Amino acid sequence: MSRDATDPTAPARSALNRIPSVERLLGHADAAALGAAYGRSGLVEAVRAVLSQIRTEGGPVPEPAAILARAGERLAEERRPSLRPVFNLTGTVLHTNLGRALLPEAAVDAVAAVMAGASNLEFDLGTGERGERDSHVEALLCRLTGAEAAIVVNNNAGAVFLVLNALAMRREVVVSRGELVEIGGSFRVPEVMARAGCRMREVGTTNRTHLRDFEEGIGPRTGLVMKVHPSNYAIHGFTAQPEERDLHELCRARGVPLALDLGSGSLIDMAAYGLPPEPTVRAALAHADLVTFSGDKLLGAVQCGIVAGRADLLAKIRRSPLKRALRVDKMTYAALEATLRLYLHPERLRQDLPTLRLLTRTAPEIAAQAQRLRPAVAACLAGRAEVAVVGCTSQIGSGALPVETLPSAGLALTRPDGPGGRRGAGGWCKRVAGALRLLPVPVIGRIAEDALRLDLRTLEDEAGFLASLERLAI
Ligand SMILES: *Cc1c(COP(=O)(O)O)cnc(C)c1O
Repeated sequence: MSRDATDPTAPARSALNRIPSVERLLGHADAAALGAAYGRSGLVEAVRAVLSQIRTEGGPVPEPAAILARAGERLAEERRPSLRPVFNLTGTVLHTNLGRALLPEAAVDAVAAVMAGASNLEFDLGTGERGERDSHVEALLCRLTGAEAAIVVNNNAGAVFLVLNALAMRREVVVSRGELVEIGGSFRVPEVMARAGCRMREVGTTNRTHLRDFEEGIGPRTGLVMKVHPSNYAIHGFTAQPEERDLHELCRARGVPLALDLGSGSLIDMAAYGLPPEPTVRAALAHADLVTFSGDKLLGAVQCGIVAGRADLLAKIRRSPLKRALRVDKMTYAALEATLRLYLHPERLRQDLPTLRLLTRTAPEIAAQAQRLRPAVAACLAGRAEVAVVGCTSQIGSGALPVETLPSAGLALTRPDGPGGRRGAGGWCKRVAGALRLLPVPVIGRIAEDALRLDLRTLEDEAGFLASLERLAI
């Protein structure tokens, strides 16, 4: 075909002709480093993708170095992990969406130690026979809670499901109407019971349930009586629940086990650390046959669910095929064991357990940190945001101690005063929040009162935070 000057596609075609070939680009000096970093085939794929973009975009063809730079950006973007660290400055210490508890250093080391090689996960080094994976933590859990036996599964939702299914399938589970709660979206007590194959027998009312309600509710078809920590809500006013001791006595007299879903389940007395009181597992077990609780809430370890209590009940639960389906990996045991060992040194716990360390920071201490960091943060954002030290309130999170907040402090970012005054501040906050999420280590704050607030209770890596903030583009 002749290249006629009247051919309307001629200019585009001549531009296409100027797009360098993949071969030529790979021969360019800049390609060597990219090839070494990402592999030749990855580079070829990225270069092809960029060339195809350039073709669709039309316009002038960039220089080879610029094309390779775009391929490099593309490769870097692709290789960036999806799951990565962020700065949680939301004020919620145990933030489910941001990974809940931060693992203690000892737990991180323990995980690393068993990850890459073989371990005695289910192997008894004494006898050389097959072992029990729960053995690595059971004795520690019993020592720390007073339980006769303990098992570990994937999470507390799994623990509750397992208990219900193993002890009360096709039987009735008696529960107070005031405890038919929903915890974080997909965990709803009535639905969990139905899925576990149990018939729910509600007793009492939303605000008041008496011992006699349980007395009447327990019958020949009862498999279990269950109490649920309401976690993320509280009923105030004209309320009643039977004394735990009385309910436990009733259950014992009727030969029905009493299970208590604690949710958070602390191993220590939080009040002794100046924190809002939360039932300890040990105290709960004094008036229950078994309890279930999370590994990554107040306990401060890794995601898992723990069932602790009477040995005969635990033996029955252990035989359930669901236990096998809900079992956890060696990494979980390693992290949990190392964290539980920290509890054997109570005097060091406040330093060594990040959850407790962060929860017990005082407002004046955090305010001093905010004062100290303010100039550097303001310098990073010069002309683009005002930065002020503010008082705020943190939450424990994860349904622990729902109505209680902890006094804290942080930095409030506001729009520099423009002609619009406060108008449009909401949009500005959203834009800044979006830009903070794009940082190399994203910073997650909270929008309140026309400001983007960064609660510093949970900020320990100040240098990393400032280094990330320096890249902010707003
Ligand atoms: C948090 C919670 C659960 C669910 O625990 P996960 O570890 O998130 O599965 C169940 N019950 C109660 C009372 C809780 O607070």
